[in-house]
Amino acid sequence: GAKQDGRDGYRFYEESMGESFKRVLTVQQGLQEAMTQDQLFLHFQPKFSDGGRRLTGAEALIRWNHPRLGAIMPAEFIPVAERSGQIIDIGYWVTRTVCRHLKRWDAQGREPLRIAINLSPQQLHHPNVVPRMLEICQQEDVAPSRIMFEITETVAMHDAELSSRVIHAFHAHGFNIAIDDFGTGYSSLAYLQQFRVQQLKIDRFFTQGLDTHGEEGRNIVAAIVALAHSMNMEVVAEGVETDTQLDTLHDLECDQVQGYLLERPMPADKFEAFLDQSAQQARRVVQAAADAL
Ligand code: C2E
Ligand code: MG
Ligand code: MG
Ligand code: MG
Repeated sequence: GAKQDGRDGYRFYEESMGESFKRVLTVQQGLQEAMTQDQLFLHFQPKFSDGGRRLTGAEALIRWNHPRLGAIMPAEFIPVAERSGQIIDIGYWVTRTVCRHLKRWDAQGREPLRIAINLSPQQLHHPNVVPRMLEICQQEDVAPSRIMFEITETVAMHDAELSSRVIHAFHAHGFNIAIDDFGTGYSSLAYLQQFRVQQLKIDRFFTQGLDTHGEEGRNIVAAIVALAHSMNMEVVAEGVETDTQLDTLHDLECDQVQGYLLERPMPADKFEAFLDQSAQQARRVVQAAADAL
């Protein structure tokens, strides 16, 4: 049996450290091949307005299917890629891939959609990020207005002067910007006002608070909605999982919702089927209105 003394306890600790270190190395080395060998792909999660009735766009979320380890989630590999610098190439791959999907959906005759892409701090503050993104859009023949970059609040506020310059440069070329995970970081309202972004995404924590924190949870979301509207931003609540949350968000005049209750992130083929279905529903509503005349 295992010895219970301190030395073995220490050795066990060392070995488990070794295991997680090995995993990080495997992930980092694997990422090199992931891009060239088509192991990365995108999921799309819709955003809705009108209490979930109208589709307004979707967010691209990266996925990795590792040949040996199976699915690895971004919460694990994005931080590794950020530390190693691989996030820069991955980020440009994401934008190019989003452009190619947009082109295909346009060619299929679908309603033009806007797709949101998450940006890490390293990406936002990387030299030439704006011209590089613009170049990709031009090469792929997609208007920058079809793309919205989601920047987390903490990232935007860290080195706010630089963030402000990059955000303005993105805007000058027609890209849209959202502040992601709002409310969990720290914000300077002066900078928030100066950024002039299109969208503010309320962090999932506050959406859950609508169920768990009663009147207070409701008041906080109402305050964020008022703040966003006072700066002419749209507000999106992320992580909507219950009907109570959805109804309350509607009462509080939150503009858009996103979450498992409405739709989970899905691969491109499933997303296309979802788009077909939404278009059909919209046609049925229009037809019903015409029939009623
Ligand atoms: P995020 O941008 O805040 O994205 C929201 C996360 O919440 C996603 O996790 C999404 O799948 C999940 N989610 C959506 N609805 C619900 C819900 O109702 N309940 C719960 N519990 N979760 C929900 P995911 O896809 O694992 O991504 C995690 C984070 O990884 C993202 O957070 C984003 O910061 C980062 N990320 C994802 N894709 C990319 C990418 O292409 N580039 C970069 N730089 N970061 C990315
Ligand atoms: Mg996001
Ligand atoms: Mg978020
Ligand atoms: Mg996040």
